[in-house]
Amino acid sequence: MSQRVQAAVFDGKGGCEIREFPMPSPPRGGAVLKVAASGMCGSDVAQFHGHKHVPGEVSPVVPGHEIVGTIHEITPEAAADWGVEAGDLVCVSEVVSCGRCKGCMSGGLCGNIRVYGYTFPADANGGPWGGYGQYMGLLPGSQVMKAPPGLTPAELTVFEPLANALNWIDMLRVVPGDRVVVQGPGHQGLLCAAAALAYGAAQVIVTGAAGDGLRLRTARELGAHDTVDASETDVIETVAELTKGDMADVVLDVSPSPHTTTAALELARVGGRVGLAGLKGLTPDPELVTDLIVLKMLRVVGCAGPTRASMLQSVRLLGDRPDIARVMAGEHVSLETVEYGLDLLQRRVPGQDTVHVTLVH
Ligand SMILES: [Zn+2]
Ligand SMILES: [Zn+2]
Repeated sequence: MSQRVQAAVFDGKGGCEIREFPMPSPPRGGAVLKVAASGMCGSDVAQFHGHKHVPGEVSPVVPGHEIVGTIHEITPEAAADWGVEAGDLVCVSEVVSCGRCKGCMSGGLCGNIRVYGYTFPADANGGPWGGYGQYMGLLPGSQVMKAPPGLTPAELTVFEPLANALNWIDMLRVVPGDRVVVQGPGHQGLLCAAAALAYGAAQVIVTGAAGDGLRLRTARELGAHDTVDASETDVIETVAELTKGDMADVVLDVSPSPHTTTAALELARVGGRVGLAGLKGLTPDPELVTDLIVLKMLRVVGCAGPTRASMLQSVRLLGDRPDIARVMAGEHVSLETVEYGLDLLQRRVPGQDTVHVTLVH
C-alpha cells in the first residue's frame, strides 16, 4: 500500500478534522516538503471561522502559512532554482508567483499569486498544500530558503511574520534614530518592534491593553525601550512624556481593536508616517478623524504581507539574531491539539497566554 500522510483541514464553518492524503509526489519543476513546523496566528483563527481576507482564499482548506520543513524529494529544476537539495531544512514563503505576469517580469508583486494554506482547496490534486499537512507539495514559483543553523523548526516559523514586519518597517522608511510606536503586542506587533530595532530605531514603544502583561514583558525582552498599558494610563499622554513632547516619527497599528486607528494618527508627529496593519473586521470606523492626517500632513501606508526581498531579509536576520526567534518561541501544539492552539490564540484558555503558537508535526 502506498504511504498515507495526515493533514488538518478547516471546513470554514468552525470545524477542524484530520484527513488522510496520498503521499504527494513532486509536481513538475517542484518538490515535496516534509513539514516540521507551521506557525499559527490570528489569520488561522479567522480561517477557522470562515472569515476570508486573503484574495482567492477557499475552504475547506489545509491551512498553514508559516512553513518550515525538510526537502523530502526535489526535481532538478527546483533544486537549481532554489539552491537547495533533499535533506535541507528550509523556510517556505506562502506566496507562489506565476513567473509570467507584468509584476513578476518586473521583479515586483505577482498579479496571479497563489498562497499555500489559503488558495488551494483541500481536495486539490497533489496536496496537501499547507503547513498543517505532514507533507506538502511545493510548486515552481515558490520561494524556498535554506534555514540558518542553530534554531529549531518551531523557532524558525517566525520568519514569516518577521518578513511581514520587515516589509512594513521598510515601507514606513524607518531610519536609525527614529522613534517608533507599535500598537498591539500580538506576535506580529512584537516582531514589528524587533524589526524597527533592527532598522536602528532609537526608541521603540509598544502599547497594549488589559491582559497584555506577558506580551509587553516580551516586547521589553526583544529590546523595546518602553511599554504602555492602555488600561492603566492614557497612551497619548504617556507617549508624549516618553518622547519629551516630540511624539513618534513612525506609528504602526497592528491591533485588531477598532479604537486604535485614530490614536495612531494622534501618536504621530507632524509629518510622521503611520502604517495600518491590524485588520478591524472589514467594518467602518465611526471614530476615525481624518483631519488629523490632513493637518499633520501624515503619510499613511496600508501594510499587508511580505515581499520576496523581505522574506530573504527575515531569514538572514534570524541567522544573525537567533535570540529574536527564541524569545518568540511560545507554545507548541500537534495535529491532534490544533483546536487547543486556536483557543490559545483567541485567549480562551483561562489563565493562559502566549506570544506565539506553533503546530509541530
Ligand atoms: Zn500568520
Ligand atoms: Zn506573476
